[in-house]
Amino acid sequence: MSEGKLDGFLVTALVNVRYLSGFTGSNGVLLLGGREPLLFTDPRYEIQSARQTNCRVRIVRGPLVRAVGASLRRRRWKRIGFENGRIGLEVYRGLERTLAPGAALVEADDAIERLRMIKSAAEIALIRTSVAACSKAYASALRRLKPGLREQDLAARLEFEMRRLGAEKPAFETIVAAGERAALPHAEPSARSIGSNELLLIDMGAQLQGYASDMTRMAHLGAPARKTRQLYDAVLEAQLAAIEKVRPGITTDAVDGEARRVLGHYGLGERFTHSTGHGLGLEIHEAPRIGHGDRTRLAAGMVITVEPGVYMEGFGGIRIEDTVLVTSSGHEVLTPTPK
Ligand code: ZN
Ligand code: ZN
Repeated sequence: MSEGKLDGFLVTALVNVRYLSGFTGSNGVLLLGGREPLLFTDPRYEIQSARQTNCRVRIVRGPLVRAVGASLRRRRWKRIGFENGRIGLEVYRGLERTLAPGAALVEADDAIERLRMIKSAAEIALIRTSVAACSKAYASALRRLKPGLREQDLAARLEFEMRRLGAEKPAFETIVAAGERAALPHAEPSARSIGSNELLLIDMGAQLQGYASDMTRMAHLGAPARKTRQLYDAVLEAQLAAIEKVRPGITTDAVDGEARRVLGHYGLGERFTHSTGHGLGLEIHEAPRIGHGDRTRLAAGMVITVEPGVYMEGFGGIRIEDTVLVTSSGHEVLTPTPK
């Protein structure tokens, strides 16, 4: 706020409201500045908000934006930061209309997201718990894997096990893709049965106490063909090489470049069609992006994924993904599941 010479800061992204205040309801705006932060929410959350946050809470009947606008006018603030990438046009226009003359809404871009990149010890502990639930769920669901099982049955089993282990929900739509369907990097589980000699891609994560985990593993029913083994080995080599680069000070572009270099060596550069990874925390995809041309430097406390993959129409796809913590001396792979 001092950088932007702001009198106040309006937090409208619910995930950022949660990050700053602890409030997990589905309707809330947090106003920072002045003596103490003020959380606006509606009567459904009267009891919950009092339990979850030590902010002052204002319970509002009707649209929050009107109450927020009135509060801003009374304070006579001149410069109010807002999350321009995270606000709806209606809400923005509503706020603009209620501002006092001479007051301005100032674009603060991803100020909170930049804070969220570096996880606290408490956040890292929660991510570890989420990662453990994901890996345990994978291990128990895999014991039931046999030919004839449908992709959607396996996805349901994975999600059931994650919930049993304490997750609120999957961190994203679980991906189970058998055979040539694995060529779709974001395949939705279908009613297709898993064959007796087939490659299987599973990409899954838990959301546990708000925090995400993210893992992709390849399984194979029956003995894999030589081509499949070679592709798997190439992707694994790329993934391990990229993880080896992870340490404070390195650009995310350099981590991405390492995975690309290895796959390029095997003539698979063109088949690696997405970026190498992403940050994760309260959201499954958050800053930093581990991709080509991204100049963000890794720092201790960041939690990222490393997940190179290759995809071929008619054959299938191979991706391997771990959740990785950047430590002061390098990195720690949090995912315990063997590859
Ligand atoms: Zn994933
Ligand atoms: Zn991922």
